Amino acid sequence: MADQRAAAPRLDIGGIANPRSVAVFGASDNKDKFGGRVMHYLTRHGFAGRVLPINPNRTEVLGIKAFRTISDAPRPVDVALLAVPAAALLQGVRECAEAGVGCCVIMTTGFAEAGTDEGRDLERALVDTARNAGMRIVGPNCMGLISPFAKMALTSSLVLEIDRIQTGHVGLVSQSGALMVSIFNRAHDAGIGFSLCVSLGNQSDLEICDFIDYLVGDDRTKAICVYVEGFKDGARFLRSAAACRAARKPLVIVKTGRTPAGERAAQSHTASLAGSYGVLQAACRRHGAVLTDDPDAMVCLADLLVRWPNMTGDGIGVLSPSGGGAGIGVDRTTEAGMRLAQLSSATKQRLLEVLIPPQADNPIDLGGRRSGDVAGTAGKVMTPLAEDPDVAAVLVVLTTVPFYEQTTRELATAALAAGKPVLFSVTPGSAADGPRRGLRAVGCPYFDSLDQALRVLKLMVEYRTLDQAIAAPPVRPPGLAAPAGNPSPGRLTEPEAKRLLAAYGVPVTRESVAADAETAMAVARRIGYPVVLKAVARDLVHKSDVGAVKLNLADDAAVRAAFAAITETVRKALPDSAIEGCVVQEMVRGEAELIVGIRRDPQYGPVVMVGAGGILVELLTDIELALAPVSHEQALEMLKRLRLAKVLAGIRGRPALDAKAAADVISRLSFLAVDLGDRLVDLEVNPLMLRRAGDGVIVADARGLLS
Ligand code: ADP
Ligand code: MG
Repeated sequence: MADQRAAAPRLDIGGIANPRSVAVFGASDNKDKFGGRVMHYLTRHGFAGRVLPINPNRTEVLGIKAFRTISDAPRPVDVALLAVPAAALLQGVRECAEAGVGCCVIMTTGFAEAGTDEGRDLERALVDTARNAGMRIVGPNCMGLISPFAKMALTSSLVLEIDRIQTGHVGLVSQSGALMVSIFNRAHDAGIGFSLCVSLGNQSDLEICDFIDYLVGDDRTKAICVYVEGFKDGARFLRSAAACRAARKPLVIVKTGRTPAGERAAQSHTASLAGSYGVLQAACRRHGAVLTDDPDAMVCLADLLVRWPNMTGDGIGVLSPSGGGAGIGVDRTTEAGMRLAQLSSATKQRLLEVLIPPQADNPIDLGGRRSGDVAGTAGKVMTPLAEDPDVAAVLVVLTTVPFYEQTTRELATAALAAGKPVLFSVTPGSAADGPRRGLRAVGCPYFDSLDQALRVLKLMVEYRTLDQAIAAPPVRPPGLAAPAGNPSPGRLTEPEAKRLLAAYGVPVTRESVAADAETAMAVARRIGYPVVLKAVARDLVHKSDVGAVKLNLADDAAVRAAFAAITETVRKALPDSAIEGCVVQEMVRGEAELIVGIRRDPQYGPVVMVGAGGILVELLTDIELALAPVSHEQALEMLKRLRLAKVLAGIRGRPALDAKAAADVISRLSFLAVDLGDRLVDLEVNPLMLRRAGDGVIVADARGLLS
């Protein structure tokens, strides 16, 4: 989206996060009021810049000189905070623009988010006013921002009733104000500090990606969390995600508000299966960003990735003070799809010095120690475990042991010294208060449920895996032309879609369209019996639904009968549309059927999808999506992630199928998606018949819609 800014911005985001001065509209001493709380939190947390209370009825607020209007306030005013009612807001924003304010942070609600024309118009007017003046807007409908290094809490939220704002290295960009403050609160309690927290609300001017880009360049920020309902510009988000990766800053995202795919394309399986959330998942995978549905896990993960930026491998070491804890730890870790580390014999030897033989292996039950002194043993067990080359991270499952404060400390200290990620899961309940104290004392993160510890650990492994799997940009397969001819807009018939595919080197059935039964028989003889006959009618999307596909026709008589039957059924089913004749094609056989589709996602651009084909396609939803284009290798990886992968590899003594040939089709189609550009609505092959390894694949049916 082009930025229709009339004047150059007066202030950049660094200036908004570290303002020289902040004006508070409606400033008050009364903490029951918005403007009162904001004033309290600004002063309480020691904001070093100048605070400028704006209130026509006051000469001072909290002992600070107040001004009647913003134009009376001394310049420069970098940031103005407005929580005034919607009706008075535009006037306030105009005054700010005239007074040279750099950025308005607007908490007021009732704009575009209200879904009314008035709301939208008012928001438009705010943005126009600001842009004409070069003033920026955060909001409206937001909860402001918290800039810990500037000791600035620019929000009215009660979560700021804390003594001190911790600084840290996680940047949080949230569309929702409520989520920003709840994440802040949760993180504060867990000792997680931020470099910046901002809520963007309606993103009327400054949007999520503006802040991601800022944080990418901010030295204090080492990981970025994003809570988003909708990106304003999907392509821009992809660039921001790529920038995070280039800067080696993990990006963790929670996205809600899953939008259904566009209605226009809803007739295709590709559109209904490859909805925007799935595409975002694919986009995140491509750029090494982690997508999760839990804000709490998001911030914990970011914290762990900041603490331990260099986790390598995926082996998990499990340790517990009890056999029960060790057992549950192992079961749950493996059920969650993670791998138990295989300890080296050297590690086992070291463990044997302090543990009895059955316990000197992963998982470790501290109960199986040789001497009675558990606190003295703890470090001697943790150190070799954490130092084992196959241990990427350690999971400690603390069952209730009230007297374990010292032991927990020893465990944590040894783990931290080893430099590997360690996640403690602490049993809920007051009996574990001692261990919690011990962990807090040494600054070690912990989780109050095993579920959450596992969820975050799994995301951590996923981040590393994604990070390592990101491949070089796909190379165009040899011999790819630009789209053959220039297909006309609208629906493509099966033969038209197949011609487009054939031009991209995708194998399709030998076939020819016949306008009458005589021609059909002649074509059939040329192709060789048995053949398949199908109606060619532009408006007919699912041919077999109306009996317009006749398979395995053995001779002339069968072709003649099929031609008549198909013509008749299509005339009945679609009385108003023209049937162009029947396509006569070779009868092909395969061991399995795939669906391969491409579409242009309105947010993220061209995507390619592959899945188990056939009539159960939407029921099974065994599909994989990727941003186009994809290389042959990436296409093979997509196939491996399908549940159908077992069938491709050869299940129960059946032969392996030609996954390589299928991957080639996926890659070629993905390039077609890119080449078609804006013209592509969607195009799909269903089925792609898979033969045995080495025997190739062939497109039996295809359809498409171009604009
Ligand atoms: P529809 O428009 O209903 O998807 P298709 O052309 O896909 O029609 O035909 C329906 C089914 O018939 C396919 O899923 C496939 O199993 C089978 N089929 C279609 N064409 C051929 C062919 N040339 N050889 C063998 N089987 C075919
Ligand atoms: Mg089909």
